[in-house]
Amino acid sequence: MLQKTPKWQQEIAEGFNNIAEICEYLNIIQISSESIDPQPDFPLRVPRNFVDRMKKGDLNDPLLKQILPIQSELLKTPGYTHDPVGDLESMPETGVIHKYFGRVLLITTGSCAINCRYCFRRNFPYNDFQLSTKKQLAAINYIATQQDISEVILSGGDPLLLNDQKLLSLIHKIEAIPHIKRIRIHSRIPIVLPSRITTELCESLSKIKKDLIMVVHSNHENELNSQVKHACENLKSANITLLNQAVILKGVNNTVVQLCNLHEKLFTFSIMPYYLHLLDKASGTAHFEVNQAEAIHLMDQVKRKLPGYLVPKLVREQAGVANKIIIA
Ligand code: SF4
Repeated sequence: MLQKTPKWQQEIAEGFNNIAEICEYLNIIQISSESIDPQPDFPLRVPRNFVDRMKKGDLNDPLLKQILPIQSELLKTPGYTHDPVGDLESMPETGVIHKYFGRVLLITTGSCAINCRYCFRRNFPYNDFQLSTKKQLAAINYIATQQDISEVILSGGDPLLLNDQKLLSLIHKIEAIPHIKRIRIHSRIPIVLPSRITTELCESLSKIKKDLIMVVHSNHENELNSQVKHACENLKSANITLLNQAVILKGVNNTVVQLCNLHEKLFTFSIMPYYLHLLDKASGTAHFEVNQAEAIHLMDQVKRKLPGYLVPKLVREQAGVANKIIIA
């Protein structure tokens, strides 16, 4: 019997990958003269469900800005590089990034449900680092031999783009390593494709014997709709701790009101603030930069308006430095 394609996979297949189509759908009559056809290795990709949260007729919608390729991406800006956080220098095994004490990160896939134009890994050579079965085994063996690693972070791309079978098989292998205490999943999928958080997936995750943490990624309160809330409730009922990391982005969330609203709303979804990142300087992303002084100034005002537990740490990552640098 033919197996039915899961709804979330169907939604990915039916997502937008063409600027003209999105603009027509959003009643944007004139496509910005700045928009471009993106490079083939980082195409436009966005689920319809996410586009449905954008304001019709508004080319400056903060969600649209995150996914619309524009000419500024083609500019060469001093200080912006293909590997801004030094991932490639920190790989003891294919797909394993070991930068920080006690934690190791696994690149599980090169794909995402959405392509965020500001992404720090937008130029990452994923094809060279695919985790084949053999390479996955080598990665797991590496983690098993490093007794001081207590936490494994599944990253990508987006690890929740793996189907349940592949994802759970990987998690079970990690779970079996005695010195691993926590498994962390970094994913934007609960926000951009909430249908991926199925009851079956949550049931399976609830049986994992190590602590599970999911760090989601939302940058603006308009991303948080009722379907996202339902997905978060399912994840919470599977005993998963939910944290959010955001990036401070020009034209998207660089006002006090936007930052306060985002973090207050996240709390109502049972997601606690974790990090607010300064933009990692990946080639093609300079038009999103909010400089450090402006970000500090904004966060000073956010701190005066929100209780401490709703204020994320403002951080930046620097290649070669073995921890995130906390700025405020
Ligand atoms: S979901 Fe995350 S990894 Fe994927 S493009 Fe967006 S920021 Fe990059």
